[in-house]
Amino acid sequence: MNRFRFAPSPTGHLHIGTLRTALFNVMAKEAMGGSVVLRIEDTDLTRSDVAFEQGIYDGLNWLGLTMDEGPISGGGYGPYRQSERLGRYRDVAERLLESGHAYRCVCTDEELEAQRQAAALAKRPYVYSGRCRGAGILADESRPYVLRFAMPTGREWYFRDIIRGDIVFDGDLLGDFVLVRSDGMPSYNFAVVVDDIDMKITMVIRGEDHISNTPKQMAIYEALGSIIPQFAHLPMILGPDKSKLSKRHGATNVMAYQEMGVLPEALLNHLMLLGWSDPNGREVMTRDEMVGVFSLERISKSGAVFDLDKLKWMNGQYIRHCSDVGLLERVRPYLSDALLNDLGHPSQERLQAMVRSVRDNAHFLTEFETYLQVYTHSDDWVASVIGNLPDGSVEPVVYDRLGEWVGQLTDWSASQLDESLAAWVAGLGIPKGKGFKSVRWLLSGQANGPHLGQMMAIMGADRVIQRVEKIRRLV
Ligand code: GLU
Repeated sequence: MNRFRFAPSPTGHLHIGTLRTALFNVMAKEAMGGSVVLRIEDTDLTRSDVAFEQGIYDGLNWLGLTMDEGPISGGGYGPYRQSERLGRYRDVAERLLESGHAYRCVCTDEELEAQRQAAALAKRPYVYSGRCRGAGILADESRPYVLRFAMPTGREWYFRDIIRGDIVFDGDLLGDFVLVRSDGMPSYNFAVVVDDIDMKITMVIRGEDHISNTPKQMAIYEALGSIIPQFAHLPMILGPDKSKLSKRHGATNVMAYQEMGVLPEALLNHLMLLGWSDPNGREVMTRDEMVGVFSLERISKSGAVFDLDKLKWMNGQYIRHCSDVGLLERVRPYLSDALLNDLGHPSQERLQAMVRSVRDNAHFLTEFETYLQVYTHSDDWVASVIGNLPDGSVEPVVYDRLGEWVGQLTDWSASQLDESLAAWVAGLGIPKGKGFKSVRWLLSGQANGPHLGQMMAIMGADRVIQRVEKIRRLV
């Protein structure tokens, strides 16, 4: 059975790239079958924080990414927090020490720093000198020591990455890396391998920043006599200027997108396209459609550009495709009490109609607060706007005859209003666009805004007639 894992470190806000890793693991599992394990990599005790761990759960829940096993989803091969597995790492370290795959290193920080500087001066990559490997000081436990992995020498490490193809590393350039630090905490490379073995992981999908760790991890698997999983390293996420995604390109914290009024389905769809593409070239796709055609082989090697404008467009598409009821549910949390008060606490149905009337304008859910203000303006306010418009903004014939037209309308349903309006404007002998724009100015005091027929239906006959009369009196 396929076993995937998502292994975030709770050392900061949930990053967009981290969430994409979770998404691709879940998609791979849904497309290929199997299960996904959530593992919290919190061995960096000073930087890990329960609030950040909570942020991981919040982000996953928001996008609807369910993990089959993990700290909060019950049994399996846990515990799933690395901080709860320290005894296990100690036992495995002991085993590696006994089998000669690891050794104690008592080199001081100063000595190592000197080696690093010497390497930098000689312009060669730093590799631990191996001074403590097999030296007599092995038994000296009174001095602080780290446990190092005895990397086999004169060997290459090869793996076939599902996304990137063949990758080879020269083992001698990796050196004897640290397995356990002097404070007894396991290094990332060590803990991750012990966990992936214990949790029976068959496929590791993670960011490409971990490619260089892979040969070290393979060496540990080999030393422990375990089967090495398959690897798929996801391309780096870049900003539109092709540099690594950073705050300069927009928020990197997932929850900022929720605050901004992005729909989770839209973010999920957008994240999917960061590296993966549909074989049929579609961009806006449901999750089921994506699962139906998802394969790791279709993920590209080259960096994936996170473009806020594209997300904005995508979110607009999703807003337009929501059902009316669904859209109101999504928009409602973003509306202020003050606005609802100004709107006269409309019924559910009326608010739904208002939201529907402006949906084509909106790209983010937060924008509805502004767009709905069109329904709060007084006739005096509209009249003052019209009074200050540059000449020619409103067609004189529309100004003169709008009152007469609205006065004789009998059917105030939105669809009928659309039809009547089109016929009326056509009969005025002016360009259609100019006619509509003039009506819009006179009824709303805005150059852009809601769908006109819907807006008139929402305002209702009395209000529209009264507004047109008032404007003629004041302007
Ligand atoms: N905890 C690591 C990170 O957040 C991921 C480790 C892995 O996937 O192997 O980058």
